[in-house]
Amino acid sequence: MKRFALAGNPNSGKTTLFNSLTGSTAHVGNWPGVTVEKKDGVYKKLNEKVSIIDLPGIYSLSPYTLEEVVARNYIIDENPDCVINIVDATNLERNLYLTTQLLEINVPMVIALNMIDVLNKEGTTIDIKALEDKLGVPVIAVSALRDDNLDELMQKAYEASKNPREGRTIIKNEEILHLIGDITRAFKGSKVNNPLFHAIKLIENDDLEIRNHENLVDMVTEFKKTFHDEIFGDDFEAIIADARYQYITEHFHSVKKVSKEKEEEQQNVKMNRSDKIDKVLTHKVFGLLLFAAILFTIFHLAFADDILFIGKSGIFENVKPS
Ligand code: GDP
Ligand code: MG
Repeated sequence: MKRFALAGNPNSGKTTLFNSLTGSTAHVGNWPGVTVEKKDGVYKKLNEKVSIIDLPGIYSLSPYTLEEVVARNYIIDENPDCVINIVDATNLERNLYLTTQLLEINVPMVIALNMIDVLNKEGTTIDIKALEDKLGVPVIAVSALRDDNLDELMQKAYEASKNPREGRTIIKNEEILHLIGDITRAFKGSKVNNPLFHAIKLIENDDLEIRNHENLVDMVTEFKKTFHDEIFGDDFEAIIADARYQYITEHFHSVKKVSKEKEEEQQNVKMNRSDKIDKVLTHKVFGLLLFAAILFTIFHLAFADDILFIGKSGIFENVKPS
């Protein structure tokens, strides 16, 4: 049976999607050797049955949490037939950080752009075609909550699973790419699977990679000496993270558009709100009172070291608390 893995950030809607796809076939257990919950089930609406595995919710493929290690090892070592990367469309840029890492693995992949119902309500649209062009994998807008487009998502994932996909990186910095290229070649020479992914992780000083590829560490260290970043020095984890975010900010901000009507509506709301504030501030009586209150507060804050009381003499009088 083919196996499709669901990968995504916490709260992106993974559980909702998993439940919709697998229904009563869901089975809950633990990942071998760890207390991280594992869920699998069967999707039955394609030509053949497909096993769906819900990976733990993660923000990155670094080895800092058990969840990250479990998800990463599953994708790298168990070779699922397709990774369905669920992306919260209302938090597009943050979610794409994980996407940029998943793309580096040699595995067929599709993106389920979830929570599209929320965007529609907001009047925001996402240019799916532009997103697909930039990421190089199919993107399907879905609402896991409303069961919208899930069959199309699974059809696209099924199609994708028929062909191998070679990992690619969105990192564009020429010097870093040069470094990545050299190390990827070294990994290919050692017949390591997923050379691009491992090369980038090794450049990031990833603990797991260093442990698993000790023989390459010296060479990578030598390569790295030729590179120096003005801002991050030789903190390669920060250099790579920055390269990812730079790409995301540069390329994905523009795929999101607020519809003209909504934009005007929001403009009106803003105008109305500031008009209302103006009315109060410039009112003959309230405006003056507010002005006096603000002056009094400033005076009070500036001069009162002790608690301010109004004394018997009827004038302000400072009295030290006893
Ligand atoms: P997980 O942490 O990735 O497993 O996310 P959940 O499936 O628990 O979903 C997080 C929250 O988002 C829940 O309150 C869901 O009801 C909600 N949610 C999930 N998918 C959608 C969607 O397509 N549309 C909307 N409006 N809410 C959704
Ligand atoms: Mg969940």
